[in-house]
Amino acid sequence: MVNTLSKYHEKRDFKKTPEPDANSELKSTAHPRFVIQKHDATRLHYDLRLEVGGVFKSWAITRGPSLDPQEKRLAVEVEDHPLAYGDFEGTIPTAEYGGGTVMLWDRGFWLPETHADPAQSLRDGELKFVIAGSKLTGGWVLVRMKHDRNHTKNKNWLLIKHRDAWAKAGDGERILKQDRSIASKRTMHQIASGKGAKPAAFMLDGPNIAKADAIWHSRLATGKNNSASEPAPMQRKKNTHTFAAITAYGDVVGGVKISKTAKILWPTVNGGTAVSKLDLAVYMATVGPWMLDHIRGRPCSLIRAPDGIDGAQFFQRHAMKGQSPLVRTVRITGDHEPYLQIDDAQGLVAMSQIAALEFHPWNCAEFQPMRPGRLIFDLDPAPDVPFSAVVDAAVDIRDRLDRVGLVSFCKTTGGKGLHVVTPLKVEAGADLGWPEAKMFAEAISTQMANDNPDCYLVTMSKKIRAGRIFLDYLRNDRMATAVAPLSPRARPGAPVSMPLSWAQVRRDLDAQRFTIWTAPALMAKTTAWADYHKSARSLKAAIRKLVG
Ligand code: ATP
Ligand code: MN
Repeated sequence: MVNTLSKYHEKRDFKKTPEPDANSELKSTAHPRFVIQKHDATRLHYDLRLEVGGVFKSWAITRGPSLDPQEKRLAVEVEDHPLAYGDFEGTIPTAEYGGGTVMLWDRGFWLPETHADPAQSLRDGELKFVIAGSKLTGGWVLVRMKHDRNHTKNKNWLLIKHRDAWAKAGDGERILKQDRSIASKRTMHQIASGKGAKPAAFMLDGPNIAKADAIWHSRLATGKNNSASEPAPMQRKKNTHTFAAITAYGDVVGGVKISKTAKILWPTVNGGTAVSKLDLAVYMATVGPWMLDHIRGRPCSLIRAPDGIDGAQFFQRHAMKGQSPLVRTVRITGDHEPYLQIDDAQGLVAMSQIAALEFHPWNCAEFQPMRPGRLIFDLDPAPDVPFSAVVDAAVDIRDRLDRVGLVSFCKTTGGKGLHVVTPLKVEAGADLGWPEAKMFAEAISTQMANDNPDCYLVTMSKKIRAGRIFLDYLRNDRMATAVAPLSPRARPGAPVSMPLSWAQVRRDLDAQRFTIWTAPALMAKTTAWADYHKSARSLKAAIRKLVG
């Protein structure tokens, strides 16, 4: 028995508790293990355990881990546990120490972020580490709180999420709603009643190791700037995300396993490079954190092309059986079939696995499916209209919106036109819904068409469209979608819908150059759309201005 386990041993009567005894042998592996057990004892809490020196160093996190870097969580150091505890799930009798139900909530591997000896880091009171689990991923720090008045060694630590691709500012606690065992898929209730499959022992090889390696890889590439308290300089300056050169490790991208990686989805055009399924996954992992601001918390349709863009394409609106656990199924009041919703970067990458090439979210406010969150003006030029005229139209719409107090942003569509997007403020108690939003968009578009009837029109009829741009305001409805910023398009050349700064919206703009290959590097440099969230304005005030 490792002598640091004596406390563990003393506290328990192994004739009465099903927990593994301290003598149970389990070898250390190349990658140290971590486990988080949800423990419904006197008080519900989460036990974080990190393998250090042949035992599990353990902390009880009273409120559970948060993915929000601003949310520091109290982690109370408890006695070391044997490694065999990493496979324990079940119920400890009420009268025994820690009596209650224990769920294997998450497990995987962890590594210290620096090369320092983790045992020493813990003695020094600060351990920065990266974990690769199924529910939790990315960088964290454990910091011991200052010694108390009696100068005894403090058992109180703080657990804090690093700012990285896996952080979720403002929404760090939702992860705790995932209430199924990672090992047996059972809920707390099922474990408590002893029903269902017993947990499978943790696999120490194959996919788990590959996943861990992929995460270290992408994590370490972000450099040392990701400390918990200090955002990386680039993040602070541009209010945007750092682009870690994300690299695929084998067939694992951003922690997600991809099969048939070599499958070509976009064949070569004009001597350009073809895009494989793996290339798509790497692209999604790279721009995912940026895209999520516009996708998260909204039903999202997909265009899937399992055989590439020259094969059959499916427009998928609804959730499906057997879909990846990394994406959500959401029911909207009044709709029979549930929708698909993608809330994090891993979910976006997981969609590459099912050959989802395009992402078309609703335009509702985040997590409020009934409320308008943005307006979209979709500029659709007839085939004979030069692109410079579309640019003029976008600038015209911007100015009209500006006059009623709305701020707008422009993006290419990856197709022939441009989208002008206006973020709306979600006003407490405001009674404005999609009917009003649509009427407003119609009024702006109709005024513009009336002022320049030779250039614009607002009716869909193809016949009268020649030489003109169709101002499609019909995207502004509850269930209408528009392609997301940075979504690839299932069209030749792997174009993407590229967020632009207004300085780029010039008559000589070459919209064709924004592709899966060029967009990530361009996004790392641009400030386009950086003010998007700050720029949400009141639709109510805009309507008042337009009418008055
Ligand atoms: P382009 O610049 O080539 O017009 P676009 O993305 O604006 O590109 P549109 O055909 O104008 O393409 O469609 C506008 C939006 O309407 C799309 O982005 C998509 O979200 C939605 N849409 C288009 N076709 C369908 C469809 N068949 N079913 C559901 N939604 C669609
Ligand atoms: Mn369009």
